[in-house]
Amino acid sequence: MRESTEQNNNNSISGNNNEIKKRSMKWIVILFYTYLHIFGFVGLYFLFIKAKWMTVFYFLFLVTISFIGLTAGAHRLYAHQTYVASSQIRFFIMLAHTIAGVGSMYNWVFWHKMHHKYYGTKRDPYNHNRGFFYSHVVSNLLSVPSDIKTYEKDIDMRDVDMDGYVWTQRKFYWILFIVLGFVLPIHAAVVYWDESYTNSFLIIGAARLLITTNISWLINSALLIWGLKKGSKFPVDDNSVFFLSKSYWLNYHYMLPWDWKSEEFGSYERGLISFILKMWYELGFINQLKTTTCDDIREALYKVVSSEMTLDEALAEVKQNAEENAYREMLKYHH
Ligand SMILES: [Zn+2]
Repeated sequence: MRESTEQNNNNSISGNNNEIKKRSMKWIVILFYTYLHIFGFVGLYFLFIKAKWMTVFYFLFLVTISFIGLTAGAHRLYAHQTYVASSQIRFFIMLAHTIAGVGSMYNWVFWHKMHHKYYGTKRDPYNHNRGFFYSHVVSNLLSVPSDIKTYEKDIDMRDVDMDGYVWTQRKFYWILFIVLGFVLPIHAAVVYWDESYTNSFLIIGAARLLITTNISWLINSALLIWGLKKGSKFPVDDNSVFFLSKSYWLNYHYMLPWDWKSEEFGSYERGLISFILKMWYELGFINQLKTTTCDDIREALYKVVSSEMTLDEALAEVKQNAEENAYREMLKYHH
């Protein structure tokens, strides 16, 4: 029952409330992202005024594939194990995440797990208490903390360590990214529909990576834009999280990160990633999708207020129910 507390954020993690050790600015990284943003914004401008239509569609296609790799893959599958995926899907996720060009999946998952484990404390590398700019930008430009070894001991990476696709991507990251994520995509627009090299470099190279980098950063900082502020109450249907979906449930994700619907709980039908996961499930590529119901949550909260049970214990029980239901669902016969 206790094991889910690792994922359940909270300030109750004993002994972890001390400050994160000093991290210094990495100037080479700052320079890289500065140039990426300068070229990227020029690329976005070119996308509207100079690009061929095929380049526009290709840009949207690559961003969507990367988005799937980052959110359905690195986040929901590898960081939180919200479902179990077949080797075909894990191979696709590895390619999609490589195309996104945001570093290896292993590293992303490690830092995201760290973010959840120490959420709300000073050891959180994306510390939300320091504001959006720190969480979204600055935290990604800093060196690893000098006491990184203590984090490595605290973060359980065994599930990710066992995955051959994650291992391969980590081992050969730079060559895979340069070929699949940079040279081939830029070259394809020039060869197949005669886009100019300048346009292709600025749009398919820089602008695309600008968007995917910010999506990757947003997964750790989105709560600060679209989450509920402490003590705030809003009507349930009234808060636009993204342009197409509505939800307040980014906060929910920090409480029950193992739910496959993630921040879309409460409004399951409009999220692109939930739709894709449903589709993969129906096609038989993934199974054991863990989720919960409003009734289970209500019951857990009732137990907390009416018995000695702590919130962590009640949520661990919810997780156990979800795991059992997911397993039971997998055993059912599917046509
Ligand atoms: Zn998460």
